[in-house]
Amino acid sequence: MKTLEDVWTSCLQTIETLVNNAQSFETWFKPIKPVKLDSNVLTLLVPSKFFYDWIEEHHADKLSRAVKEVLGNNAKFEYQIPVEKDTERNGKPIVNGSADNGSLTMPNANRNGFGNPHVIPGVIPHVYESGLIPWYTFANFVEGDCNLLAKSAAIAIAKNPGTTYNPMVVHGGVGLGKTHIAHAIGNEIQKLHPDKKVVVVPANRYLDQFIDAVKSGTAHSFSNFYNSADVLIIDDIHVFSNKDKTQENLFHVFNVLHQKGKQLIFTSDVSPSNLQGMDARLLSRFKWGLTVELQAPDYETRIAILERKAQEKGFILKREFAEYIAHNIKENIRELEGTLNYIRVNVNDLKRIIDIAQIKEAVKAISNHQAPELTCDYITNATGQHYRISVDFLKGKSRKRELVNARQVAMYLCRKFTSSSLSDIGRFFNRDHSTVIHACTSVDDQMGLDTSFKTAVDDLIKKIKMSG
Ligand code: ADP
Ligand code: MG
Repeated sequence: MKTLEDVWTSCLQTIETLVNNAQSFETWFKPIKPVKLDSNVLTLLVPSKFFYDWIEEHHADKLSRAVKEVLGNNAKFEYQIPVEKDTERNGKPIVNGSADNGSLTMPNANRNGFGNPHVIPGVIPHVYESGLIPWYTFANFVEGDCNLLAKSAAIAIAKNPGTTYNPMVVHGGVGLGKTHIAHAIGNEIQKLHPDKKVVVVPANRYLDQFIDAVKSGTAHSFSNFYNSADVLIIDDIHVFSNKDKTQENLFHVFNVLHQKGKQLIFTSDVSPSNLQGMDARLLSRFKWGLTVELQAPDYETRIAILERKAQEKGFILKREFAEYIAHNIKENIRELEGTLNYIRVNVNDLKRIIDIAQIKEAVKAISNHQAPELTCDYITNATGQHYRISVDFLKGKSRKRELVNARQVAMYLCRKFTSSSLSDIGRFFNRDHSTVIHACTSVDDQMGLDTSFKTAVDDLIKKIKMSG
C-alpha cells in the first residue's frame, strides 16, 4: 500500500511537470505538507490562509490533476490551515501534542473549490501548538562519541517515558545540541505515544508566564497546566538561577509530576553541580535521575554533521571543503551550521559555484563573530538597522507609516524565527497578541502582493539567517 509520503511525493513529481517555473514550484508546492490519506481523500496542510487563497486561485487545477493521476478518478483533496492555539488561548501557557485537527470548520470562500470535483470545499483549521520544534529529531541528530550516552539515554526515555531515567538533565556548552536532543525526545514520544501530553517550554518563557500568573492571581492555573503534562521539558534551566519564587514553583511541579511517574527533562548550560543560585532541594532532585553531558564534537563527527546539514539544505559539500571547515570550527555546532548557511546564500542567490575562497570567507565570517541566538531582541535590532529606525521607535507608540511597516516586519520575523508566543512578542513590543497576529497577516499579504516589499524582507531574512 502506498504511504501518505509516497502519494505526496508522486503528486509533487506530477505537479513539477505542470508548473513550468521552478521558483513557483518551490514557493507554492514545497511548503505544502501531506497530513492524512483517508481512502481517497488526501488532506494537505498549507502554511496560511493567504497561501491557501493563492493556491486556489492559481494552482488548484494542477493539484487536482496530480491527485487524480496518483490516486485515481475518485480522488479528492482537502486543505488544512494552521491555527495557532495562541490565538484562542490569549497567552495562557503553551500546550503541546494532542493536535485536535479537523474538529472545527471555518467559513471560506473557496473560489474555485465548488466547481472542482476533486476539491472538498472549505478549509479545516489544523490546530497546532507551538513548543515542539518538529525538525529536531533523532533521525537528524548525528551520533558521535561526544553525544553517544546522551543519545542512547534519550532514546530509552522516549521509548518508556517516566520509567527509565527521571529526571534527565542534559548539559553542555552553547550550540552543542541540547535543544535539539530535548526536542527530539519530545517528538519521538509524540510519535510513539500519541496520547501523551508533551509540554516543551524554554525556561525564560516559563519564568515570564509564572510572573504574569502571579501578577494576575492565576498562579494556581499556571501550576495546574504544568502539572497535567505527561512529559515536561524545560530548556535552559540555568535561567532560573536566583529566581527563587520560580524555583519554588518548579519544585512543586517537579514533585507532583515525579510522583505520578511523569517524565521530566531539563537542559542547562552548566552541570547541576555547578548551577549557582539554585535551591538545594531542587538541585538534589535534578540528581535523582540521569545527568549527561554533550561535549564538543570530534573531527569525524564535525564532518558528518556538515555533510548531513549540507544535504538538508539542498547542496553537496565536497569533502575537502567539509575538512577545511571542520579543521577551523571546533567548539560549536551552531557555527558549523552557520558556515553552511553563509555558503548557501551565496550558492543559491548569487549563482556562484562554491570554491575554497568562499569556504574560507564563510569560516572567517562565522568564526569572527559569535553567532547570536535568534531572540526578539536580536531580530528587532537587525530590523531596526535594516530600515534605519531605532529600536525605541519600533517598540514605541508612533503610527507613522514607515514605522508601522518596519514594526510589523519585526513582529513577523520574531514570530518566524523565535519560539516566543504571540503574547511574548506582543509584550516585547508593548502591545497585545492580537496586534502581532495582525502584523503577521499583513506582512504575509503584502509579501504576496508587492515584490519590492518581499525582496526587502527576504534580504533582511537572509541577514538574520546568516547570523543565527
Ligand atoms: P544548544 O541548545 O546546546 O545551544 P542546539 O540544540 O540549538 O544547541 O544546536 C545548535 C545547532 O546544532 C542546531 O541547529 C542543531 O540542530 C545542531 N546540532 C547540534 N548537535 C547536533 C548533532 N549531533 N547532529 C546534528 N545537528 C546537531
Ligand atoms: Mg538551546
